[in-house]
Amino acid sequence: NIPFNVEEIRKDFPILKREVNGYPLVYFDNAATSQTPQQVIDVIVDYYSSYNANIHRGVHTLSQEATDAYEQARIKIQKHFNAAKAHEMIFTSGTTHGINLVANGFGALLKEGDEIIVSALEHHSNIVPWQMMCERNGAVLRVIPMNEDGTLMMDVYDTLLSEKTKLVFCNHISNALGTINPIESIIQKAHQAGAAVLIDGAQACPHVKPDVQALDVDFYVASAHKMCGPTGVGVLYGKEKWLKKLPPYQGGGEMIAEVTFEKTTYADLPHKFEAGTPNICGGIAFGAAVDYLNAVGFKAIAAYEHELLAYATEKLLAIDGVKIYGTSSAKTSVISFNIEGVHPYDIGTIVDKLGIAVRTGHHCAQPIMDYYKIPGTVRASFAFYNTREEIDRLVDAVIRAKKMLL
Ligand code: PMP
Repeated sequence: NIPFNVEEIRKDFPILKREVNGYPLVYFDNAATSQTPQQVIDVIVDYYSSYNANIHRGVHTLSQEATDAYEQARIKIQKHFNAAKAHEMIFTSGTTHGINLVANGFGALLKEGDEIIVSALEHHSNIVPWQMMCERNGAVLRVIPMNEDGTLMMDVYDTLLSEKTKLVFCNHISNALGTINPIESIIQKAHQAGAAVLIDGAQACPHVKPDVQALDVDFYVASAHKMCGPTGVGVLYGKEKWLKKLPPYQGGGEMIAEVTFEKTTYADLPHKFEAGTPNICGGIAFGAAVDYLNAVGFKAIAAYEHELLAYATEKLLAIDGVKIYGTSSAKTSVISFNIEGVHPYDIGTIVDKLGIAVRTGHHCAQPIMDYYKIPGTVRASFAFYNTREEIDRLVDAVIRAKKMLL
């Protein structure tokens, strides 16, 4: 195991050298979007400089090179998630796209009275598509409630499952609180009841390496831009049997076998779900980002980020009036907090003036904010390229903001 050298790692990220408002940037908005290492930026530049072309259809050299690189990236991503087959990996524009694709498919498979279960900790992108689906087919949405510490009430989950349950969906890790959900048990129990499971891995994939076969999960979705890759690309893993069963999401070029005005037949997997020209460069760069993360090593990443989380938690809690939401021991490097009597937006604005990027608001998870009866939180989310010194700067900035605002 290569020892974790954060100073060496930071050299890979050119953006970390910049200043914001006259201060060296401290980037603590990693749960929204991670930063991009030079290794991935180089792959993007190389694509547009050397072999930019449309894929799958061309006989010319550039098209073949681009097709090879894109399909190689799919295989890298398949291996990363340990999927059995490369065609079980569908390139999407991101997690939201993947969820909508599956929700649209289940829209056709479910009927009135069927039930689907969602967790109280979901991002809006894992709530709204299912509500839209229920409006179309009359299926009923049930919710696993949450506890004060940001964990799910698993005993209530047991009572929600029945032979009516057709699908359960839950995030692997909550973006608003950082809670790591017990997805192994969620999947196993759903399967016992005969239901399929979709796991939203948007927040998990920067921190852990999911094994979709070991999990026996039916669908798993992620976004490249939270994994040191570019925006506008992601992946949907689906078990082959499900991807064969679901109808296509969008119609268009690339996804057909044969088209006449009387009838169209669809292409095989994965093309059935990849209508139109995809984000070719994005897919290739996603592969490079997965290589980069694996070279750093997920064990090293988790251990280091855990240290940062413990350090920041202790330092922030030492400030009078700070309350942290989501206190489960099973959590990743996300701290959602407020200072009594201060609006989170005001803290976010002041710390930005000091060069520190945090997120403020409801984090696309309004039901969680409603549970705590707050308008939102300040969320500092750490990545493996952050440091203790940066956390010290956040703590100083929060103390300063508090003095100014109270
Ligand atoms: N689910 C979770 C848990 C997320 O954190 C996010 C991004 N904040 C999404 C879904 C949506 O991802 P994207 O915007 O990349 O589609």
